[in-house]
Amino acid sequence: MNIAVCIKQVPSTESKIRPASDGKDIDRSGLSYVVNPYDEFGVEEALKIKEQLGEGTVTAISIGPEKVSDALRTCLAVGVDQAIHIQDDAIHGSDGFTIARILSAALQKENYDIIFFGRQAIDDDSGAIGVFVAELMGLPHAAGINKLEIHPEDRRAVAHRQIEGATEIVETPLPALFTCQKELNEPRYASLPGIMKAKQKPLTVWGLSDLGIDPATVGATQARITVDQITSPPVRTTGKIIEGNASEAVSELVSLLREEVKIV
Ligand SMILES: Cc1cc2nc3c(=O)[nH]c(=O)nc-3n(C[C@H](O)[C@H](O)[C@H](O)COP(=O)(O)OP(=O)(O)OC[C@H]3O[C@@H](n4cnc5c(N)ncnc54)[C@H](O)[C@@H]3O)c2cc1C
Repeated sequence: MNIAVCIKQVPSTESKIRPASDGKDIDRSGLSYVVNPYDEFGVEEALKIKEQLGEGTVTAISIGPEKVSDALRTCLAVGVDQAIHIQDDAIHGSDGFTIARILSAALQKENYDIIFFGRQAIDDDSGAIGVFVAELMGLPHAAGINKLEIHPEDRRAVAHRQIEGATEIVETPLPALFTCQKELNEPRYASLPGIMKAKQKPLTVWGLSDLGIDPATVGATQARITVDQITSPPVRTTGKIIEGNASEAVSELVSLLREEVKIV
């Protein structure tokens, strides 16, 4: 099986996020970065499939600036065979649809049997890129899967999706694209030998010209959506403890809900 996993480098979940001074982006100074946690489920699933079948190649692909190579090296350290870093100054300012177009062009250069994405990137949270790519490539897809069975003998996959109050089981021929939800597996950590081996594994850098994409068709000027404003959530006010016995507390609570909160 030839498997691709698209990964995004995102600010670590422990980062303190603040809007940038222009209010159009987040302030990236002093942030530390990690592989998007949902994408780690894709990496783990790809490695498990390769191990179960005893053959295959797993490729991690990411678009982003120079530092994205750290995220790709992390993937190589946990067992991914090769990585592709798409880097080009013209990409800066691109919206999600353009990112999907670029990823589709990269994925089309190879015949992948399975393509994994995260369900969403935890920074921009669009939850859209995987589905955009499936549509652009004309591939069947299942979004937000939490279990996957691969049947190589008849090139088919069975995926489970958690929907409101039920599990939906879908079947698709391969090639297919899946976006990964958190119960799918338990991502492994990199071992010391894995980290050492990662340094020798191939990490290819492609620009837009390698993908046959005209730089004039990407970037901020071509974005179909623009970010108007990013603001911090309102500061939560402190809670109120209602004193007194139960009947006093209930009448005080009802009067607060009526007069202050105005919800009854
Ligand atoms: C007007 C505008 C300007 C922007 N400018 C920039 C910019 O200058 N620099 C910048 O970094 N971002 C920029 N962004 C954000 C960038 O377009 C988002 O990364 C993109 O929209 C993906 O959305 P998301 O991260 O919410 O992805 P989601 O749809 O939530 O991501 C789903 C999955 O797609 C995959 N994925 C997402 N992004 C990538 C990627 N880059 N490489 C590989 N796989 C990926 C991952 O598997 C991820 O789990 C901009 C967005 C807009 C709207």
